[in-house]
Amino acid sequence: MQLVPLFEDRRLAPILEKVQQGERLSFGDGVTLFRTPDILGAGYMANLVRERLHGNATYFNVNRHINPTDVCVASCRLCAFGKKAKDPKAYTMSLEQVWETAGRGWTEAVTEFHIVGGLHPELTLDWYCEMLRGLKARFPEVHLKAFTMVEIAYLAQRSRLTIVDTLLRLRDAGMDSLPGGGAEIFIERVRRIICDHKIDGRQWLDVARTAHQIGLKSNCTMLYGHLETDEDRVDHLLKLRALQDETQGFVAYIPLAFHPDNTPLRHIPKTTGFDDIRNIAVARLLLDNIPHIKAYWIMMTPKIAQIAQRFGADDIDGTVVEEKIYHDAGATTSQSLRREELFRLIQQAGREPVERDTLYRPVERTQTTFTVLV
Ligand code: SF4
Repeated sequence: MQLVPLFEDRRLAPILEKVQQGERLSFGDGVTLFRTPDILGAGYMANLVRERLHGNATYFNVNRHINPTDVCVASCRLCAFGKKAKDPKAYTMSLEQVWETAGRGWTEAVTEFHIVGGLHPELTLDWYCEMLRGLKARFPEVHLKAFTMVEIAYLAQRSRLTIVDTLLRLRDAGMDSLPGGGAEIFIERVRRIICDHKIDGRQWLDVARTAHQIGLKSNCTMLYGHLETDEDRVDHLLKLRALQDETQGFVAYIPLAFHPDNTPLRHIPKTTGFDDIRNIAVARLLLDNIPHIKAYWIMMTPKIAQIAQRFGADDIDGTVVEEKIYHDAGATTSQSLRREELFRLIQQAGREPVERDTLYRPVERTQTTFTVLV
């Protein structure tokens, strides 16, 4: 006999029925889930799905972030990272500095370099290809997850190439997959205010589609906690779900909490723990075709990311080593967590830690080397 939980919010009962039958949730269900105060009810359902897909495993990886430049031609209001070239605080690494920075992360035998940066007016596609080739030559076993869809579109425009040709050049130079940033929120009304210099939502999805079509996997994200409505959030998630039906190219979804400090939107209050957890749970329930939901500890804090492992998340991200983008926007978390700390967080949540590579293949390691189990 199946025990039926008594939800505080009765509107969740028909949603539970769908979840138990493995039925797809609707736009209206998504809005209800974002509005219900019954976070335990939403979390219960998200946890059902999460355990159905991943059992007791919580994934993490040993990675290093590299941000080659913070110089950016755009001026997104959501951003505290991008700077104009003449700003005395702006920086651009030389190729040697990128490779040297990568080497500094090597101490923990990282399996992934996560590489994103500003839209630099002078760095060329050839420069980025050289950067990738240099990384591959020095660290052949490390996966290069590089460039948001926004960076790809900008590089294509500057090089006067199509998106597909730009992606092919980067892939041939060593890019293995793409991160999911730059999606922000697709709805134009809000996008125009928070990041009007970026490609629009349709273009973001087109770049992702093209990447998937040539065999590159990517992640996907949504920035929440600024000017968006619940309907805007659901619209965004369902657009990601529709593209995933088409391409199966998204590996993980990562909800990103807006950090307002040092941005022109600093009057907006920071997200609450309740909203952070809710975003994890709703994503797990709506994104029935995206395998992994990541609670990114840098943005949510390690404590919330840990609790999220019982509310729909199955991943806590990685060691990171040096994070600039959200720390420029006031993130107060540490800039790195050691492998042992990630282990402890996961185990204390009653989950089993599984080290993964970027594509979620389990990794077996000794102190300084690793093997990806295929
Ligand atoms: S969000 Fe990205 S594109 Fe926009 S200003 Fe910041 S670095 Fe540039």
